[in-house]
Amino acid sequence: MRLLAVLVVLASPSLARAQKDAVVKAAAVQAAANWPTALSIWEWAEPGYQETKSAKALADLAAKAGFKVTRGVAGIPTAFIAEFGSGGPVVGILGEYDALPELAQTTDPVRTIRQGGNGYGHACGHHVFGVASLSAAIAIAEEIRAGRLNGTIRFYGCPAEEGGSAKAFMARAGLFNDCGVCLHWHPGSRNSAGDASCLARIAVKFRFHGTAAHAAGSPEKGRSALDALLLTMHGVELLREHTPDGTRLHHTVTGGGGAANVVPEFAEGFFYVRHPKAEVVQKLYPRLTKCAQGGALATETKLEVAYLGGTMEILPNNTLAQVAKANLTKLNDLKYDAEETKFALRLQETFETKVPLDTITKVEDVSGKSSGGSTDVGDVSWVVPTVGFSTACWVPGTPGHSWQAVACGGTTIAKQGMTLASKTLAATAYDLMTDAKLLAAAKEEHTRRLDGRTYVPLLEKDQRPPLDYRDPPRRRGAE
Ligand SMILES: [Zn+2]
Repeated sequence: MRLLAVLVVLASPSLARAQKDAVVKAAAVQAAANWPTALSIWEWAEPGYQETKSAKALADLAAKAGFKVTRGVAGIPTAFIAEFGSGGPVVGILGEYDALPELAQTTDPVRTIRQGGNGYGHACGHHVFGVASLSAAIAIAEEIRAGRLNGTIRFYGCPAEEGGSAKAFMARAGLFNDCGVCLHWHPGSRNSAGDASCLARIAVKFRFHGTAAHAAGSPEKGRSALDALLLTMHGVELLREHTPDGTRLHHTVTGGGGAANVVPEFAEGFFYVRHPKAEVVQKLYPRLTKCAQGGALATETKLEVAYLGGTMEILPNNTLAQVAKANLTKLNDLKYDAEETKFALRLQETFETKVPLDTITKVEDVSGKSSGGSTDVGDVSWVVPTVGFSTACWVPGTPGHSWQAVACGGTTIAKQGMTLASKTLAATAYDLMTDAKLLAAAKEEHTRRLDGRTYVPLLEKDQRPPLDYRDPPRRRGAE
């Protein structure tokens, strides 16, 4: 085994280059073959922790490619691990597949709600996220099987990224502990790479239980749960002014009564608090909860707090970011044909500002920046050196979490971006599996950035994954 490893390392540079080219080509072939699976996941558009069909499709693909598949990890039915090979280095690749509510959309470049589904849409492109990552993992596995690479490639099937914090539960379960490095990517409206970070985040649902009564005939007998929620939201709006710079607070009503002539007995709101540092988010969370307590006190209703967990900010790794950026820049071959250009220009008519289409030929350096959003990849990055990048799967200027992103996701524009991602992941995994010094440098940087801190997930003790967080609001006594 050791002799083989030495032979691989000592192989001539031109041979190594040819081998890397072959891996990249294999990743592109896999991406093309698996594009129909991405389209199926786009159509299913399953909510977080309910991605039964999507997770099964990916796990079955991995099993067919000879991976050892472990389904239902970390107490989550739709989380799985698929691995190929043995021994080190262990390279992990993350894949996601959950969709977003209220964003069903056809592939038309004008707002057209897709009928017949569940109202969800892949507005964050996770349908290509999972498939591109697995395609790259399969390409690497082929090299291991042929004896040209040593080590283990491991695909992580990660559900419920959108507010479900699944990777935090997976990290707490120790699933990333033996990984040398973890790779991920994200669909976007441009290509980008660099040692960027994101916002840490805590998610919570406040449920209020009041007393129903006729809103006109006997309002004095009622206690409005909706009033409690409205007061809470007002409190949060006032809190906003007195928070550290960079704080983000947002909320939505997920339940608030059903008839204007009934005092609502039940109301529920979904709240997020975010900041570039997890330690600040942890300090803000009790203040958010006080707003809800105040809402309940003033309206004589009962508050129920459903803590959904939180995610860390990404601990960047510049050593790895440089490798991913070099590969993405070298491999970027995105180009719209006439039909794609027509679609893109029509879609751009729905935006206030238009970003030039030729920006897809470039790779933006996002080093030192924040993505502005949150991701549970953050939790992984505190356990193992982690790197990610973005490819243009959406028309330039398309915001994430928009119907426009859903529309792009079902077209060949997303297929192109997904293929580029798969190739870049495979090339980066190849570099890391053939360069022990690089892996060691990434690890050294990781230790340096941790600066003596250890990973403590933003989860309550013994907290179980909130598998029902996308269910309709749950009323007390209705279980
Ligand atoms: Zn996303």
